[in-house]
Formats: sequence, C-alpha cells, structure tokens
Amino acid sequence: MKIINFGSLNLDEIYKVEHICASGETLRVLEFQRSIGGKGLNQSIAAARAGASVLHAGKIGKEGVCLQSFLAENGVDVSMIQLCDEPQGRAIIQLTPQADNCIFVYGGSNRAVDILFIDECLSHAQPGDWLMTQNEISNLPYLLNAAARRKMHIFLNASPVDAELARMNLSCVDWITVNETECCQLTGCTDTMTAYEALRARLPHTGILLTLGADGSICWKDGHEYRQDAFPVAAVDTTAAGDTFAGYFVSCLTEGSSIQDALRTASKAAAIAVSNPGAAPSIPWRNTVDLT
Ligand code: ADP
Repeated sequence: MKIINFGSLNLDEIYKVEHICASGETLRVLEFQRSIGGKGLNQSIAAARAGASVLHAGKIGKEGVCLQSFLAENGVDVSMIQLCDEPQGRAIIQLTPQADNCIFVYGGSNRAVDILFIDECLSHAQPGDWLMTQNEISNLPYLLNAAARRKMHIFLNASPVDAELARMNLSCVDWITVNETECCQLTGCTDTMTAYEALRARLPHTGILLTLGADGSICWKDGHEYRQDAFPVAAVDTTAAGDTFAGYFVSCLTEGSSIQDALRTASKAAAIAVSNPGAAPSIPWRNTVDLT
C-alpha cells in the first residue's frame, strides 16, 4: 500500500522579525534564510521519514530542481514530479522570537497542475492506495473525485482555506485535517469547538483530525472520538508542525496502527519538529521518534 502525495513544492524565504508585520507597517528584518518547503513537500518528507512508501506528484519550475533532489534524498519516489514553464512556487514566512509565524504563498508551478497530469499520475495508483493532498495545487476538486473513482483512501489537509475550498463538496474525502483557524474558516464559526461540531455534521462519513497546537489534537472517526495531548516541549519554530503530524498520522495508518497509536506517534513527531528550527529540516526520522 503506497501513498501518492499530490502536493505543493516551494522555495521558502524566512524573515525573522520582532513581531508579525501589521497593515501599513514597514519592519526591519533581523535575519534572512532560504529553505525548501511547501505543505506537499513537507508532508511527503514526514510520511517518508515515518517509514511509508511515498510517491510525490507535483510540478516545479526551473529554480525548483533542488526540491526534487531533496525529496529523492529522503527516499521519496520523484518520478511524477514534472518540470514546467511557470516560476517556482514559493512561500514568504515571517517568524517571531515567540515562534509565531505568518505565511503568504505564491502558487506558481503548483498552480500548473492540470487534469491530464492528474490522470497520468493517478494511473500509478491501485485501489486501497492513499492520496494525500493539501490546498496548494490547482484542480483539487478534480483530483479528489478522480482518486475516489480509483477507490483510493483520500486524506486532505484543508490548508490553506480559501473561499473555493470552503464551498467545495468534500464528501468523497475519507480524512480531513485542520488546525483551529482552518476549522473555523471552513465552517464560518468563530469558536473552535463549535466549528469542530459543524464540520462533523457537514462531513458525517469523514474522519476529522483537529490539531490544537500545544493543546494537542482531537480525532473523530466512525462515531468515536480520540484525544491526544501534545508532548510538552520548548517550541523554537512551529512551522511544519501540522505537516509533520499529517505525514506521520497517515504513515501510521498505512502500517495498520490504531488511530490512538497513530495520534500518539504523530504528536511525538510534531513535538520534535517544533523543538527544532526550520520546516522540512525539523521533521524527525522514525527511529528518533520511537526512541524519544
Ligand atoms: P499547524 O502547524 O497546522 O498550525 P498545529 O499548530 O495545530 O498545526 O500543530 C499540529 C500538532 O503539532 C499539534 O496537534 C501538536 O501535536 C503539535 N504541536 C504544535 N505546537 C506544539 C507545541 N508548542 N508543543 C508541542 N507540540 C506541538
């Protein structure tokens, strides 16, 4: 059973700032760093480092070849990463000393994913394989329906939420994961637990994974609720916490772990990720997680 992660690949630019820049403000940058990222890339790295067999499908621009190499070095199958004429997708990240972040994303090559490419990639899927995806590529509704037709297990990280995603029919999704903000944005509720109830009502046949940062996570599947505390750590950089959690959670499910065990392993992996700087570089390998 393999995971096809149809996802974004980004070059990240990280700006360390005293606080998140406000509207109309000009802010001096304390430190600048380039990194590799994209929710798709991070989740492929997390699932592969957790031990799963992962094929990453996506598009890169000319400047993005290093992203493909990084995935390959981590044991991800990169045969379905295609070079295109669009500029490489990228994310601009503000990071504060309190480990808060604020991110805006330029889609670029990630928005060049078209229907033909989706069909070509999914022709490598068998019924029972897993599709992981996020909301950073184009033609997401087509991808979800095509995967459902092929009887894949579909795991959607509903991030980032936009108006199109909030309106989308997600009933074919087997698992959806959201953080507190995304849960509220998807449902139009202002309170997280009300939003969680609303999402459960809207998607009664979908497993729901709600991550609550340092307050842990809640999972709802087939009428049962599971809760997992976060592992207490000193957070250095929370970028990629959710990506690490998602990749580890899916990888554990493909191994046949129980939901409770998958939540525990994913929480441990995410706690290690937030204790280390960076996005993809902070994602731990399985032996580190198991030994912690
Ligand atoms: P996202 O990165 O998508 O915003 P969250 O912030 O909810 O997602 O974090 C995902 C998971 O990472 C949490 O459910 C938790 O297990 C872990 N995590 C996040 N922040 C911390 C923290 N400060 N300490 C320990 N674990 C954390």
